[in-house]
Amino acid sequence: MVLPLPCRTSAGFRRPLPPDGCPWHTSDVPSDVRCRGGTVGRTRTPVVAGWFTGEGDDFRLLGTRCAACASVFFPREDGLCRNPACAGGELVEVPLSRRGRVWSYTDGRYRPPAPYVSDPELPWEPRTLIAVELAAERMVVLGQGVEGVSVADLEVGMEVEVVPGVLGEEGDDESGTVWTTWQWRPTGVRA
Ligand SMILES: [Zn+2]
Repeated sequence: MVLPLPCRTSAGFRRPLPPDGCPWHTSDVPSDVRCRGGTVGRTRTPVVAGWFTGEGDDFRLLGTRCAACASVFFPREDGLCRNPACAGGELVEVPLSRRGRVWSYTDGRYRPPAPYVSDPELPWEPRTLIAVELAAERMVVLGQGVEGVSVADLEVGMEVEVVPGVLGEEGDDESGTVWTTWQWRPTGVRA
């Protein structure tokens, strides 16, 4: 299994990150090298607990489904069914469809405020935001595009799939945290 996370050294070297971490992100790598997928020594922690699970091909967003009316909620609803026509049923955790179609997209040209995690020392790199329609769940889920995907690469109706991604990093290489999230990656299937 190869995670779709790029590793980039100061030399601009990129390649897929193997599951046991970045082979170049070791203690003898110069301190100016930043590994965007750095898993070595850092704890990978979901930026929001309970919204996604798994790694690689098993990665899935998690929602909840009302046992009474079958409405699906993401972000997950664990209290009461939000369907006004429903008397309310048990809300059961369900994995969402891995693939959907681009409903809309834009790019974030400004650094979002806290609690968004970003390093103020680094220049802000615009990230592509994609709203994805999941047909089975009849919902639209927003998320970042994977690194390297720009608005020029996207069109409405294009198929994308959910993959694990990194939102940001905090702390040092030994005890720091890698904040994980979900991202959307085009599958190559067009509208
Ligand atoms: Zn319901």
